[in-house]
Amino acid sequence: MLQVSDAEAIIFNLVQPLDQKWDREVVTLLTAIDRILAIPVTSELDFPHWDNSAMDGYAVRYDDVKGANKEQPTALEIAFEIPAGVKPLRPLKSGQAARIFTGAVMPEGADTVVMQEQTQIEGDRVLILEAPKNQEFVRHRASFYQAGEQLLPPGITINPAEIAVLAAAQCREVTVYRRPRVAILSTGNELVAPDELLHMGQIVDSNQYALAALVAQIGSEPVPMGIVRDRPEYVKKAISQAISIADVVLSSGGVSVGDYDYIDKNLEQLGATIHIRAVGIKPGKPLTVATFPKPKTKQRVLYFGLPGNPVSALVTFWRFVQPALRKLSGLTHNWQPKFVLARSCNDLTSDGKRESYMWGQLHLVNGKYEFLLAKGNSSSGNLINLAQTNGLAVLPIGQTHVSAGEQVQVLQIN
Ligand code: AMP
Ligand code: MG
Repeated sequence: MLQVSDAEAIIFNLVQPLDQKWDREVVTLLTAIDRILAIPVTSELDFPHWDNSAMDGYAVRYDDVKGANKEQPTALEIAFEIPAGVKPLRPLKSGQAARIFTGAVMPEGADTVVMQEQTQIEGDRVLILEAPKNQEFVRHRASFYQAGEQLLPPGITINPAEIAVLAAAQCREVTVYRRPRVAILSTGNELVAPDELLHMGQIVDSNQYALAALVAQIGSEPVPMGIVRDRPEYVKKAISQAISIADVVLSSGGVSVGDYDYIDKNLEQLGATIHIRAVGIKPGKPLTVATFPKPKTKQRVLYFGLPGNPVSALVTFWRFVQPALRKLSGLTHNWQPKFVLARSCNDLTSDGKRESYMWGQLHLVNGKYEFLLAKGNSSSGNLINLAQTNGLAVLPIGQTHVSAGEQVQVLQIN
């Protein structure tokens, strides 16, 4: 059977990131949060825009004050004042100081700022009590960024810090990648929607909601397509509808070896290339990955046939679909799954035959990660103890045991 790392490599290779030229849209600055920048941003402005003071104090000529000390202070005439936001009135002459405030523009002729704490007022003069360093407390024009250079590269997530940079560069609109569209199908004769009456033997379609939430959480657009009954003609119709509107299709259920598992057969009949039919992962072994050509483009629709078991569906999403979607979204870095080494608080066991994923909570305790296994029954049919999961401990093939107190790799989710 295909191992997890091989399946991962196949999937990530199949992902074609959105097209930088065509798959983009312009959004306003405030709505750009969490979006992915599609084009490099440059600015016509230097940062700082002009030489300015980093302190409240006095703008001076270094040569005038380089010999100052407490015993023999240098006295300078206070010639004028420069509040923040104001252009200096005139150049500073030798023997003069200009009262200046943080962020205010340095006057012509001045090259250094003496902080207020090292001065003393004496009538209309200021005494410099200590020699500053040459050019001290001056933020020089373009010392942070030079106009025309790249300010932000494409392929990064726009977080609040990037919003600040964009605002400072007066970008009121931002070009970002469009959100990938992800169609979601639930298959099963036993499924009912959450607002329907639950008869004996039926199960609520939680996967539709879980998957829509997972997709939305990473910034893609979920397109919930409802429940599809286990009849080949219905399944085929639903899949062909889904591939016609989406970049990625997620179905759950119908991929194991049961009599009603039609997904793979229908994918083949619809002309898909099937790349993966099962993966040595627990939970989540029945996992189908296929691609369809997108009409009139060089792109492909990526199809994930996830297992129906709610826990298996989520685990396979976190392990394979989430990074794939992040790569597809245009992210150039940090789309890969993130693993950390943690100290397990519990004994963890596996049969060692498949790579096993155990859900629970990852905590930072005194700067070190700890993994706490979810309480209760760890069956892939038990959705209930999945609540509050933020990490999956991984036992590789061949490893049957991790004792409490030992280190374990944990896949970080969210
Ligand atoms: P399947 O892979 O179709 O054999 O489904 C495996 C198990 O997952 C069965 O117990 C199903 O009832 C359950 N299941 C399938 N689809 C869903 C769903 N959308 N929401 C919740 N449970 C599901
Ligand atoms: Mg089923």
